[in-house]
Amino acid sequence: MTRRCCLVVAAIALASLPALAQAGAARTISATEVHRLESALADDSMEGRLTGSPGGARAARYIANEMRSIGLLPKGDSGYYQLVPVAVTDSAITLRSSFSDSAAGRHETAYNLLGLLEGSDPKLAGEVIVVDAHYDHLGIGAPVAGDSIYNGADDDASGTVSVLAVAKALARGPRPKRSILFVLTTGEEEGLLGTQWLLAHFPLPFDSVVANLETEMIGRPDSLAGGAGKAWLTGYDRSTMGALLKRARIPIVADPRPAQHFFERSDNIAFAERGIPAHTLSSFNLHADYHQPSDDLSRIDFAHMTAVINSAMRAVDLLANGPLPVWNPGGRPAPQAH
Ligand SMILES: [Zn+2]
Repeated sequence: MTRRCCLVVAAIALASLPALAQAGAARTISATEVHRLESALADDSMEGRLTGSPGGARAARYIANEMRSIGLLPKGDSGYYQLVPVAVTDSAITLRSSFSDSAAGRHETAYNLLGLLEGSDPKLAGEVIVVDAHYDHLGIGAPVAGDSIYNGADDDASGTVSVLAVAKALARGPRPKRSILFVLTTGEEEGLLGTQWLLAHFPLPFDSVVANLETEMIGRPDSLAGGAGKAWLTGYDRSTMGALLKRARIPIVADPRPAQHFFERSDNIAFAERGIPAHTLSSFNLHADYHQPSDDLSRIDFAHMTAVINSAMRAVDLLANGPLPVWNPGGRPAPQAH
């Protein structure tokens, strides 16, 4: 309740938002495009996109090719690829501190994918919005009902599709004022390994990052968010980001299950702990296919997912052109030692 005053202050500063929202709405992402990307990433040929595996590398190549065709500026170590050293044992996949770290296990290279859309405004182009999702999932594992490929169609091929589709739509122009770094991370399922590496080896000055929006599990509607076409934002009241989206009439509501601690359970938390207003957009409805081989393409609701991706596009457009979100009093998480 004590934060209400601050939301009012934020609302006063937003007089120009309706025009911005309309500019974003003029670009529409089609269900055909969403289906094209989702069916590739959740295909059995990607073998569940496990970190450090051939299937994970195949997914990375697919994403890099999409970033190239969109025309993003490569920001990895080698083109779009940021190389991430991992160690694989029977029980775990862990991050190595460097490529010369001799940690126990089989040494493999995993990949984050990084592409920049440069801002157009001479004053604001040095400010960077990070738009990300994790593309890794659980690989091939114990069969359930004869299916051993954990495709992760919802977790998080759906968020990966959102990042790529939003990048493509915004790259068509008009070019946003701020710069946008589009990132697809590896190793989230193993403990945010890819994001840990990204933050320790960030390709731009880290103090240029002004906001982070992640997308995680938007493949199915959530009745608690209002059903088809609706999504929710983790840590909604922690910063003014939620109020900014609401003011622009983007159909994104507060996370209806704060007891699940989703704000702390995905890549955005690593940015938030470093002081960046950072949230995750989702419509995860606690379905029983979570981390099961049945998290499959056949269970994706494409009309819903396309609607949420169009909301994500408008949200990113707003962050890149409008007022920046700031923490509400008490909303910023305590910095962690890294
Ligand atoms: Zn997961």
